[in-house]
Parts: sequence; C-alpha cells; structure tokens
Amino acid sequence: MENWLHKRVMLTPHRVAVEYQQQTLTFSEVEQKAIALAHKIASIAENELRIGLITTNNINGYLMIMALQQLGKQIVFINRRLSVREVNDQITDADLHVILVDDGYSQQLDIDDQISFQQLQQCEATAKSVIATEFPDDFVTSIMYTSGTTGKAKGVMQTYGNHFYSAVGSALNLGLTAEDEWLTVTPIFHISGFSILMRALLYGMRVVLVEKFNAHDINQQLKCQSISAISVVPTMLKALLADLSTAERYNAHFRTMLLGGGPIDRATLDKAREHGIPVIQSYGMTETASQVVALNMQDATRKIGSAGKPLFPVSLKIANQMGQPVEKGLVWLKTPTLTVGYLNRPYQLEQNVRDGWFNTEDFGYLDSDGFLYIEGREGDMISSGGENIFPDEVEKTYLALPDLEDIVVLGIPDNKWGQVPVAFVKGEVTGQQLYTFGQAQLAHYKVPTKFYQLSHWPRTASGKIQRKQMQTMINQATELEI
Ligand code: ATP
Ligand code: MG
Repeated sequence: MENWLHKRVMLTPHRVAVEYQQQTLTFSEVEQKAIALAHKIASIAENELRIGLITTNNINGYLMIMALQQLGKQIVFINRRLSVREVNDQITDADLHVILVDDGYSQQLDIDDQISFQQLQQCEATAKSVIATEFPDDFVTSIMYTSGTTGKAKGVMQTYGNHFYSAVGSALNLGLTAEDEWLTVTPIFHISGFSILMRALLYGMRVVLVEKFNAHDINQQLKCQSISAISVVPTMLKALLADLSTAERYNAHFRTMLLGGGPIDRATLDKAREHGIPVIQSYGMTETASQVVALNMQDATRKIGSAGKPLFPVSLKIANQMGQPVEKGLVWLKTPTLTVGYLNRPYQLEQNVRDGWFNTEDFGYLDSDGFLYIEGREGDMISSGGENIFPDEVEKTYLALPDLEDIVVLGIPDNKWGQVPVAFVKGEVTGQQLYTFGQAQLAHYKVPTKFYQLSHWPRTASGKIQRKQMQTMINQATELEI
C-alpha cells in the first residue's frame, strides 16, 4: 500500500489529525512536520533500521512515530514506566544504538546515542534521506514488548499488514462516522494506544492525546468536547464512573467506550448503562495487534462475563495443546493481525503456531451462540486432585466480600492433592471470615487453604499481578489464622 500518511493527506489534507492540550494539527501539517523531523533523524541514524522511542502521549512523541514511519525505520517502543535496569535489558535485547527520548525523561541509559526530542530539533537535516513511498504489508513497523506478566517481556514484531487488518476489523465492528474523534489516554507505547494512531491514519479520524489519566479531567473532555470514542482498562472505567454524578452524560457524538484487558462486573456495567455509556468489552494481546474479540453493549447483559465474538478477519477455535478441538480448552486464533514473530526469539512463535493457528495460552470456551468466555491463563491454572481451578473465578467470587480490598489466588505444591489454592489478601478481614465465606460460595476444592498478607505485591509496569513471582514470596508473607 501507498504511504498511509501521504495517502491520507491526499484524501483529507485539512482535517484535524491530532489534538494535544490546546494545539491541533491537520494531516497536511503532520506530514510536513514528520518529513522535516525524518530528515533530522536520518542525520543521526541513517544506517540504523531499528530506533528506540521512549515517550508519553504527547504531540512530540506522536510526531516522532510519524517521522520514523516516513523514514522506513522500525520503532522499538520502550515503556516509560519501566525501571532503568528493565529499559537497559530491552535496549540490549533489541540491539538498539539510537534511542529518542521525551524531554522529561532524565535517566541515563546504556546506549551509544540517547537523544532528547529537543536535541533532535537542533540537529541539521540531511538532504539525501529517502521518504518511504510505500508501507509494505509485510514490513515490521513497530516492536512492542509484552507486559511480562508470565515471565520476561518479549518483543513483538508488528507489520503494517497487522495494523491494517486490526483497523479494518475494528471499523467493521464499531462502524465509522465522519465525526469520529478518539481520545487516547492508554499509552501510545502499548498496542492499546498505538493502534488508535494507526486507525486514525486509515480512517481519517482525529486523535485527542492525553498524557495522564485523571478521571475528572477525562470526564470533562468527554462531556464538553465532541469526542466519539475512548479506549480504557477496567480500573479507568471504574474511576470514570465514580466521578460522574447521576445526571451527567457525555457529549452527543460519544458512541464507544472500548474496554480492554479484562471483563467487568455487572454493577459497573449497569452503572455505565445508567449514564448511557456504550461499553464494548474486548479481548486481545500484543501478539494480535490489539482486540480480536469484542462484546457489544446490546449483548452485554445477556452474555455477562463474555469477551464477545471474533471480529470479521479473525477465526477462533477452542482446542487442546495439539490443536484438536475440545469443549473447554486453549483459545487458538487464525488472524491476519498475528505478529510475524518475537524479536531475537526465532522459534518461540513457531512453538505456539500449528497450521496457521496461534495458541494464545489463554483458557476458555465458546457458548452455543459462539460467544467466548475466558477463564484465565493456562499457566495460572491450579490442578488440585484432578480438578482445574482458575484463580480469576475464585478472586471474582471473593471480591463480593465487603472489606476485602484485593485478592490474588495461586497454587502451591501439596503432597496429597498435587496442588492447592492459597490467597494473598488486602483489607480488614480475618482468616476465619475468608475461609467461611469461601466455604459458603465455592466448591470446597476451590477454597484457598491458606490466606496471607504481604506488604508489596509484584506487578508489571502496566499494573498486572505477576503470580509466578508472588509464589516465591510466600515465606516473606504473614499467614492469617483460620
Ligand atoms: P506476557 O505475555 O509477557 O506474560 P501479557 O500476556 O500480560 O504479558 P499483553 O499482551 O499486554 O501481555 O496482555 C494480553 C493478555 O491479557 C491476554 O493473553 C489475556 O491473558 C489477557 N486479557 C486480555 N483481554 C482479556 C479479557 N477480556 N479477559 C481476560 N483476559 C484478558
Ligand atoms: Mg502474553
């Protein structure tokens, strides 16, 4: 395909492409600025194919992405919230020699060239740098690390073809209007944010960039500006609803709250409905360049707890490790949005692909209407006396207990049962209360046999719990008396 930005400028040059704080740029202005920046980047990194980028959701970060694509460079996104050690690990893994960093980023990194956006602006441009005429389907444009929930984060290589089909699948599900504007508060260094930037080029849509999540400010924007869509994670949705007073409604154009990362509870869904907020729940991963399954609002109550149906370009089956269909089992996907591989791990993707189907290592089932239910990650499954237990189910049941603030369930080895579930808890509850509640609400083998308190819970930079690491912390925890 032709260079997407250039094509977009030919179609709708004067439409607003991006808005950040009080500033707006049209697609034509974005192209001009991106090309000027591209020539400067070429002056410092002409021979590098891969360039690192550390940024938050601001206009300069956005322009860097556009510029790197104009130059035909691969962008390696580094999560700004990682520790310096983790950033250096990813720099080494991706074999980066040049990294462009947001002006507010003050850490010194193990790299030949660490260049701030401001320093880059002062560079002399090279006249001979070549601007990409094509965005080939098989060209890797972005490399993004997974969250590292189950182990070490892996660099996922995403092509233009991946992003194109992701945008098409999303548009066929959600529809498009001439007034679409997408508020982007999920990080642009994650697929949740970056996919919005790619959709915007393809759809000709305005992107409103927001650097920091603040529920009150976001609600103000959704009420007073003509924003039609926003992507959020469950904690953001809850915070937005908590800040809205009963009568408050979003602006008349608002039509999509795309929720990723996990399902929501009925109370949250009901509250969203009271405010007229259409929540589209979704399931996806870095490897599939964002959502591949979505649940629309009209099915949300009837199919509570479901992640929805596969998008148009996506096929899904439930199968065992060998890829043979079963009722309940692993979620396998066949999708043009699937990554071409992990950086520096040539055989790792192949291990999870059979006949073009990708094993997500998530566990679940389809109901008779074809709606997907995710029960959890295969690696988190606890096998106790021949029964399978998913921490998610136990945790969700327990969260109905007043005064329990948070809970994480995992399996520990047991001589008699193979494994038994135990729980880490936060809140003003006794071991006795927890045990009694579990006995009343859950099958006996699902009730945690021990309850622990721990001051520091290991989380990834995006806030997900690292259960494997937590398992090793039991000896530092305080056991509650049952
Ligand atoms: P790593 O692969 O490094 O362990 P990660 O899998 O957490 O990290 P991401 O690609 O950010 O990295 O997350 C994708 C995963 O998030 C999915 O494989 C799935 O386990 C979980 N997930 C996403 N959406 C949902 C959903 N709607 N319901 C349940 N789980 C979900
Ligand atoms: Mg994963």
